[in-house]
Amino acid sequence: MTQFRKIIGIQAGQATSDGAGVSLTRVIGGPGIERFDPFLMLDEFGSDNPDEYIAGFPPHPHRGFETITYMLEGRMRHEDHLGNVGLLQGGGVQWMTAARGIIHSEMPEQEEGVMRGFQLWLNLPGKDKLGTPGYRDIQPEDIPRLTTPDGIDVVAIAGTFDDGQVQQLGAVERPHTEPHLFDLRLPAGASISPRLPEGHRVMLYVYEGAVQLPGHAGSVAASRLVRLSDSGELRIDSAEGARVLVLAGEPLNEPVVQYGPFVMNSREEIEQALRDFRDDRLTA
Ligand code: FE
Repeated sequence: MTQFRKIIGIQAGQATSDGAGVSLTRVIGGPGIERFDPFLMLDEFGSDNPDEYIAGFPPHPHRGFETITYMLEGRMRHEDHLGNVGLLQGGGVQWMTAARGIIHSEMPEQEEGVMRGFQLWLNLPGKDKLGTPGYRDIQPEDIPRLTTPDGIDVVAIAGTFDDGQVQQLGAVERPHTEPHLFDLRLPAGASISPRLPEGHRVMLYVYEGAVQLPGHAGSVAASRLVRLSDSGELRIDSAEGARVLVLAGEPLNEPVVQYGPFVMNSREEIEQALRDFRDDRLTA
């Protein structure tokens, strides 16, 4: 008998605003779900009203983790203290490793008025929190996309996608936390069982349509996050069709002390980060 991953919880995101007044839905990292090791935050932003996002995220620091921004529609202009300038396009991904420090701005640009996407915060292990920062802008054409024989569209952002029929290396591979990040579009009546490493924490974020999962009566509707156990098979069915983010990562099992955009292992390290930021040495 197939052992399926157990559902730990199903939650709706919470409407909030961040940066200079950007309206967004905080799925992880708010009062509902504080974090899900190794994931620290997941935001969904989407609006056809530029007033709700155009002020963007003016210069701000990060230390101790990685931010992954995935745009579905619209554009985001990024600039950091290292001189990196990037324009993230609809369908593109920015993978930013803050490590010991990045100061950057993330400013949305209008494209027919619509902006839609996600930002994910992924923790770094303690040994890498003060390492060298890194930044990659990945253009849509450089992200592997495929359609399975069952008609499911897959965007393989990170890790290897494998449904038992098709294998596809994603655009990004990371040694620690070994993140797997896929964007799936399931037509009505589709089923999929993406293989994910045993021991990885798994989350699904349904952002359109609805899905059905083993062991859960009824459907999981859009704007719901499902957290799953770290062992067993993942199976997703969709009677009516759905768009779903699949996120998996190896838990770090380290203490997490967070103060806004700084995520370290101890209070002392947070105090050091605050001093370094005050003294202009965060990124030195
Ligand atoms: Fe940022």
